[in-house]
Amino acid sequence: MRLDDAMADDLSVVNGARVSFARRKEEMDESDEGLIRFLMRDRHGTPFEHNSFRFHIRCPIFVAREWFRHRVGSFNEFSMRYAKATDEFYVPEPEDVRTQVGKPGSYSFEPVSAEIAETTRTELETVYEAAYATYQRLVELGVARELARCVLPVGAYTEFYWTVNARALMNFLSLRAAETAQREIRRYAEACEVFLAERMPVTYAAFVANDRTAP
Ligand SMILES: Cc1cc2nc3c(=O)[nH]c(=O)nc-3n(C[C@H](O)[C@H](O)[C@H](O)COP(=O)(O)OP(=O)(O)OC[C@H]3O[C@@H](n4cnc5c(N)ncnc54)[C@H](O)[C@@H]3O)c2cc1C
Repeated sequence: MRLDDAMADDLSVVNGARVSFARRKEEMDESDEGLIRFLMRDRHGTPFEHNSFRFHIRCPIFVAREWFRHRVGSFNEFSMRYAKATDEFYVPEPEDVRTQVGKPGSYSFEPVSAEIAETTRTELETVYEAAYATYQRLVELGVARELARCVLPVGAYTEFYWTVNARALMNFLSLRAAETAQREIRRYAEACEVFLAERMPVTYAAFVANDRTAP
């Protein structure tokens, strides 16, 4: 995951809000920082929309499926109709193989024994190899890629661009950089969060101080 480009700073929030009074600032001062905290606290969300972050992401399809549920933002994804699928698949590290305990909606995830972790990894690799071998055979037989891809599991990697403003990004972070989110997407969300903190430090601090509730 990387930040491909961004047009994002705290001043864009301030000027988005101050245009209500036909005012514009060239530089942030303390009153502007207070304004951002007020906007965040009182959930005046629209001034946080005058900026954009463009991320380039490579992740397993099951992570992308969760990501694409976030409708506010723009996506373009690698096409397995037009290009051949890569043979890259997600195999969790042994310490990431986990079991779920409890009820739906309040599961906790606990480590498994080293033996179960290794079995999981081996089973996944076996299925991935067989699936990709079948995919290649079908493509070589002349079957269209759009159909041959049916054999590929959701652990296969995909890539996409995601362009999003800070308001929608904070909504994403509040949901996906959270304990309740699946560990795999959470790691990506945490990486996105670093860029928000770098580019819009006052906004980011206000978001954290506001219990990570997006405005
Ligand atoms: C832990 C977790 C578990 C989940 N489990 C499931 C599941 O089991 N099944 C499932 O289907 N999904 C599940 N989801 C996905 C979830 O329901 C949302 O689709 C996803 O998190 C996107 O959130 P969002 O709608 O806030 O984001 P966005 O789509 O980016 O929307 C941002 C905000 O815009 C507003 N908005 C956008 N579209 C509309 C609209 N049509 N009407 C009104 N307001 C709108 C809302 O305020 C929304 O919060 C889960 C998500 C999480 C984090």
